[in-house]
Amino acid sequence: MTSRNPHAARRAELLRHMAGIGVDGLLVSNRRNIFYLSAFRGEDSLLLVRRGRSQLITDGRFSEQAEQETRGIEIVVRKKGLMATAAATARRGKVATLGIEAEALTVAQAEDLRAALGRTTLKPVRGLVQRQRMVKDAAELAVIRRAVAITQRAFLDTLPHIRPGMTEMEVAHILDRTMIELGAEGPAFETIVAAGERGSLPHARPTERRIRSGEAILFDWGARLEGYCADLTRLAFVDRIPPIYRRIYPLVLTAQRRAVAQVRAGRKTGEVDAVARGYLKAHRHGKDFRHSLGHGLGLDVHEAPSLARGVETTLRAGMVVTVEPGIYLPGRAGVRIEDLLLVTRKGHASLTSL
Ligand code: ZN
Ligand code: ZN
Repeated sequence: MTSRNPHAARRAELLRHMAGIGVDGLLVSNRRNIFYLSAFRGEDSLLLVRRGRSQLITDGRFSEQAEQETRGIEIVVRKKGLMATAAATARRGKVATLGIEAEALTVAQAEDLRAALGRTTLKPVRGLVQRQRMVKDAAELAVIRRAVAITQRAFLDTLPHIRPGMTEMEVAHILDRTMIELGAEGPAFETIVAAGERGSLPHARPTERRIRSGEAILFDWGARLEGYCADLTRLAFVDRIPPIYRRIYPLVLTAQRRAVAQVRAGRKTGEVDAVARGYLKAHRHGKDFRHSLGHGLGLDVHEAPSLARGVETTLRAGMVVTVEPGIYLPGRAGVRIEDLLLVTRKGHASLTSL
């Protein structure tokens, strides 16, 4: 059943987590969570997960799409407001305690729901589905691997087109277009192409800045495929490597390799962060590493778990995480190296190979 209908298996697992917190119905409103649990990709809809039969509450625009995309879910086409219909559906299903996603429902929606619920108790929950999403199943891993393949191929196909005098934006457009030509839905996030000293901005947006000979270009990009993301960072050099990069690039690479070596089931994410941070600190670049080491990745580019200072989340087999230390020297240079890893019982498998 797991391989034939992963969504039904995910809903079954969620029901076990719900039972653990005393919730017999969960009103899922986060779009990515709805997709994860039902394969439905429409908007303005809610998924009520409960024992027996789960229901997707949608409207006439999406009813046909919902029938096509989902299996084993009752489609409720609403005639009243979304929250009023959700409340009526929960009451009809005899839900006693209805969980709502605290991060995804607005205050107004929660008020409308409460007004229509009658005696059903409302219970806000945080990150319930997101915690389940941390560990990827086989169907998800297969898609992520394909997204990574497109991401890497697009980069290799873009490099030969880069010439001094082109703008960051022009290069970003070539990379984005190539990902789409290779089958991606689009970039998973706004592609970063940062030339020269602009590499010191960890989230630089591409500009009209022209690329010069003898400069480094920092690329941070990834394809989105069937809802899933890839995320990679590499440096390229135009004609030659500036001396400062000969010094800081190997430091970042060693920091990354040391951290990667720590990635395995049972490790705390904060411990992995500390390895890279400690190494850069020992080489007098602790303050120049100005963000966390990495993050989980799946339907969202940034999702749980976070690999950051002091975070106690334990890595588990099946998690997909980035490891991306960096050194940023404002106005001068920036290096970040980012790879994607699959956590396994005994260690990890690298999903990226550039
Ligand atoms: Zn990235
Ligand atoms: Zn990242």
